[in-house]
Amino acid sequence: MDLYEYEARELFKSHGIAVPDAAVVTSPREARAAAESLGGRVVVKAQVKTGGRGKAGGVKLAANPAAAQLTARQILGMDIGGHVVRRIMLAQAADIQAEFYVSYVLDRAAGVFLAIASAEGGTEIEEVAASRPEAVARIPVDPRRGVDAAKSAEIAKAAHLPPETALVLAQLWQVLVQEDAVLVEVNPLVRTVSGQILALDGKVTLDDNARFRHARWGSSDEADPGADPLEAAASAKGLNYVRLDGEVGVIGNGAGLVMSTLDVVAGCGARPANFLDIGGGASARVMADGLTVILSDPAVKSVLVNVFGGITSCDAVADGIVQALESVHLTKPLVVRLDGNNAARGRAILSGRDHPLVEQAATMDGAARRAAQLARQGV
Ligand code: GDP
Ligand code: MN
Repeated sequence: MDLYEYEARELFKSHGIAVPDAAVVTSPREARAAAESLGGRVVVKAQVKTGGRGKAGGVKLAANPAAAQLTARQILGMDIGGHVVRRIMLAQAADIQAEFYVSYVLDRAAGVFLAIASAEGGTEIEEVAASRPEAVARIPVDPRRGVDAAKSAEIAKAAHLPPETALVLAQLWQVLVQEDAVLVEVNPLVRTVSGQILALDGKVTLDDNARFRHARWGSSDEADPGADPLEAAASAKGLNYVRLDGEVGVIGNGAGLVMSTLDVVAGCGARPANFLDIGGGASARVMADGLTVILSDPAVKSVLVNVFGGITSCDAVADGIVQALESVHLTKPLVVRLDGNNAARGRAILSGRDHPLVEQAATMDGAARRAAQLARQGV
């Protein structure tokens, strides 16, 4: 999971890396007040999970609170690479003398982390890396040894960074390790005219597999005013759901099967309305939650349940569907394809329930064709 810049900054700060004072706001009026309390001269920054904000006009200096208010009005609502700006951060403007690039990334193939660093940081780092790769140092970091004083000095030297950046390199490694991140990046890390080393931007990608160790992660996304309401509802119920823009709702077990189901639906001339993987979850709870989310999408005209039972047995899935029908008011036709472990028993359970809006199909292709046809007929 990627963090917002303002979240990454909090992690930096808690590990001793200096960042300018800042505030996050959602309106131009609040921006003015925030600029006043920050001392007047600020940088106004779009908070979106994408890079290149500066080049897109989403990072601007404002000389005083009135200018900050105007700038906030320009940046709020802006679309940066498909991300609409709902929040901005105001930070005390730094007087930059030099901009550096520093990051740690996981190199999965080599089984090590890489420190990537350059004395030519800033918004042009991609161009620098492409045209003069020698200006960007790439130093392997053995995760068992980490980045101590000697290692951070080695990285700083290789990248031609001033020696006083070594401390930040060691602290940044601690961010990666202690927060369970797979990427931490500071671009730019700057030296100010008064000689201070400050992190002016931050990107952190946390390892989702370690989420259970950090309860507060993701809290900001649930509160994200720009998030899709159905995706937010699904995520609150712990479902693996992604909304798409078609009319056939899709539920399946296992990400691979669900993705092929999307392809097969598309092959039948219809468009999938979502991705929903119930995993090994055959429970009535998961089925009811999944159906509730899918049925509340007004674009959905039919729902396709595609289950290939392996460890999950089809009778458990059928039971789940039957129980879900008790709590969910089915308003759209449901086509169910059960195959694999205990398929015959599962099919018998569904036939026994005999719901007027539920029909079964023997194959994945047949089920997708029928769901597509029902979607075309509309409801
Ligand atoms: P990005 O474009 O999304 O990476 O956004 P950044 O936060 O990195 O900002 C882009 C550029 O704006 C930086 O490389 C700096 O050159 C400039 N910038 C950001 N903050 C400040 C600041 O406090 N003072 C000055 N003078 N420039 C800043
Ligand atoms: Mn940046």
